[in-house]
Amino acid sequence: MIVDNSSHTQTRTAAPAIDIPFNQPGMIGTELAYIAHAVQSGHISGDGLYTRKCHALLEEALGVAKVLLTPSCTHALEMSAILLDLQPGDEVIIPSFTFVSTVNAFVLRGAKPIFADIRPDTLNLDEAQVAALITPRTRAIVPVHYAGIGCELDALMALADRHGIAVVEDNAHGLFGAYRGQWLGTFGALATLSFHETKNFTCGEGGALLINDPALIERAEVIREKGTNRSQFFRGMVDKYTWVDIGSSYLPSDVLAAFLFAQLEARADIQARRRRIWHRYDTHLRAWAADHGVGQPVVPAHVDPSYHLYYLLLPSLAVRTALIDHLKRHGILSVFHYLPLHLSQMGRQYGGAVGDCPVTEDISDRLLRLPFYNDLTEAEQLRVIHAIQAFDGWAST
Ligand SMILES: *Cc1c(COP(=O)(O)O)cnc(C)c1O
Repeated sequence: MIVDNSSHTQTRTAAPAIDIPFNQPGMIGTELAYIAHAVQSGHISGDGLYTRKCHALLEEALGVAKVLLTPSCTHALEMSAILLDLQPGDEVIIPSFTFVSTVNAFVLRGAKPIFADIRPDTLNLDEAQVAALITPRTRAIVPVHYAGIGCELDALMALADRHGIAVVEDNAHGLFGAYRGQWLGTFGALATLSFHETKNFTCGEGGALLINDPALIERAEVIREKGTNRSQFFRGMVDKYTWVDIGSSYLPSDVLAAFLFAQLEARADIQARRRRIWHRYDTHLRAWAADHGVGQPVVPAHVDPSYHLYYLLLPSLAVRTALIDHLKRHGILSVFHYLPLHLSQMGRQYGGAVGDCPVTEDISDRLLRLPFYNDLTEAEQLRVIHAIQAFDGWAST
């Protein structure tokens, strides 16, 4: 079974028995008790007790002015696009190497995506390219902290400030990762999180909008509450609430927030587990990777990763395909992502063509993600590592 979030990028073959999946949603143990409490408290719609607890925890832990839970990271990105008041023809600079929601949210508002390439080392938005893509119509830059390794934020923020352009961090991978000691998600005017089942912290489907520019808070609350000033009403600031702006319903149920709160409370434990898993792959595969010309993740010295995923860069598409098949025969599921967005059916309608983003085009054929989830045991992981080391399909064409 394909369990990757980006399953549209996977080739589907008849499934042999897989006993080490690619992903498995983690349970920390307190989720069901908190859900029961949320239900008993009689408030299971949005903004109940557990939503408020999640907001407070994230605001405190990250030092963010305002956090709003959303039903997904996709929805938080859509809120960002509304908050920026994008007009048709406005340009938004986005890496081609990302999940489709990073771009869709802005295209939905009529903006034109301008696809930038990634750096060959971190696979993050190439800040030098971004500089060259800025025009008078550029309204936003959307860096994605790929694998939870921070983009070159010093350069990106300086560039955005100089041109008066907003930065929206797609931080779906990077919660509790840091750049020069500052949390990812606290640099841009806005940032988004994902709590999808494949991410470090989950409630099945979920997300959050992090608002670092206090001037955007009030309008974000309105947009999230169907375009009404309901939040102000509940704070006693207005005596009845009414329709004041465009908006939609961007509140998750408090039942989901209860599940999420259990995981966020256990963040030290969850991140420690993921850190161990990440380092075990990295250390055990180092000599093998060097022998075979395989790339491993590059973490700059000034970056603390969030340990979201672990990948290998194989020498070719043929070798990657052979390694995926080899691992399947050992009962292990490995997956790849992302297909270059500028070469997708939609991307081509925006003018995308082969050669626009050469690093993305090259990497997307060669990147392989290994099984990575909180409950992956050391024995299971060593089985994955030994199976990789036993691979002999290097001559695959
Ligand atoms: C997972 C992901 C999203 C979308 O998250 P959802 O919560 O599923 O909407 C967006 N961007 C990136 C980079 C992602 O990995």
